[in-house]
Formats: sequence, C-alpha cells, structure tokens
Amino acid sequence: MNRIEKIRSLKENQCIVDVLLKEIMTHPCRDCGKCVFGYEGITQFEMILKDITEKKGRESDKALIRDLCSMMKTQSLCEEGIDIADAVKEAFDTYGEIFDEHISKKACRAGVCKKFMTCHILANKCIGCGECMDACEDDAIIGKSKFVHIIDQDECTLCGKCIDHCDEEAIVMAGAVKPRCPKKPIPCKKR
Ligand code: SF4
Ligand code: SF4
Ligand code: SF4
Repeated sequence: MNRIEKIRSLKENQCIVDVLLKEIMTHPCRDCGKCVFGYEGITQFEMILKDITEKKGRESDKALIRDLCSMMKTQSLCEEGIDIADAVKEAFDTYGEIFDEHISKKACRAGVCKKFMTCHILANKCIGCGECMDACEDDAIIGKSKFVHIIDQDECTLCGKCIDHCDEEAIVMAGAVKPRCPKKPIPCKKR
C-alpha cells in the first residue's frame, strides 16, 4: 500500500495527524539533505505536525503546510520529496476537518494524541477505596474513604498508574467525549 492509499484508508481508531507524522519521521528526506526543499520541507512538516499533536497547533499552520507542499512538489530534486508533498496535501484535502479539530477545538476524535486525553473517575463505579490516591505520584487525586474520588486535571500527567490500581475499573481515559464527573468528592452510591 503506498502513502496515498494508506491515507485514504484511514480507520476510525487512527488519527491522520499521527499517521502523517509517523510517515514523516521515517522519510528518506530527513537523512538525505541533497536538496534544500526536500530537507527543509520535511523538517518543517515534522515541527508543525508535532505541534498539532501536542495541542500547540496554530491557525497559520494550515497555510504554511499548503505552501510547503507546493514548494516541495515543484522544487524537490527527486520523487521522494514530491511524493511526501502529495501525501501531505492529500491528507489536508481529505481530512481538513480533523486538522481543524486539533488546531481550533483542541480535540482528537480518534483518541490517539495523548495531549488531548484526560483521565476521569466514574462516579457510578467508584467505591472510595483510596487505592488510586496511593498510586498517584503526582498527588492529582482528591478524595476520602467511601467518597467518589476526583482527578485534578491541572496536576494529572496522564501516566495511567491509577487505572492499573483500580479494581472497580472506575478510572478511564477520555478523548473528545468526556464523561460527566462530580467537581468535588461526593458520597459513593456503589459500596
Ligand atoms: S527530495 Fe530527494 S534529493 Fe531532496 S532531500 Fe529528499 S530524498 Fe534527498
Ligand atoms: S477510583 Fe477506583 S481505586 Fe480510586 S477510590 Fe474509586 S474505586 Fe478506589
Ligand atoms: S493518570 Fe497518573 S497523574 Fe493522572 S491521576 Fe492517574 S496516577 Fe495520577
């Protein structure tokens, strides 16, 4: 399957920005450098796409990427540069909405880009045992015995350790759709 086919056959659980970034990270232009447009183009693509997956995307990135695509396509010395420029343009043309979501809404609908995820404790499952609090090295969990615990999103580093320590499966990672959780500890309904 070539790059364009790979892009066109994106599955629901894949994120186009992540797929594209992985293609770029293994692209031959990174190690070649025989032409400025190939090497600089791939370097710029990498920086911009990394920013987008890390919640640092800006509106101006879209125009920048399109300009880079057209320069690489016309100025690259060999097919490698032309081919990746076509692939990036194809991704933008086909999945513009997904790029917009990452940049403007700071959301990754596939739940792949880790920076867009958040960790939550489900009130209907938590029994207030406190195991997660002991496991969290960042002191991001607030609660007391028999109260639904909550996660302080400002402190949570998304390490996932609490998930492994909760036998009730009450802790989940969420992408674009967030579960409704209490803002402060409340008495547990489940015991
Ligand atoms: S376009 Fe070709 S020559 Fe230019 S950097 Fe890429 S691989 Fe090298
Ligand atoms: S989230 Fe899980 S580990 Fe934490 S207090 Fe609730 S039941 Fe216990
Ligand atoms: S994911 Fe890690 S940092 Fe966040 S609440 Fe759980 S243990 Fe703490």
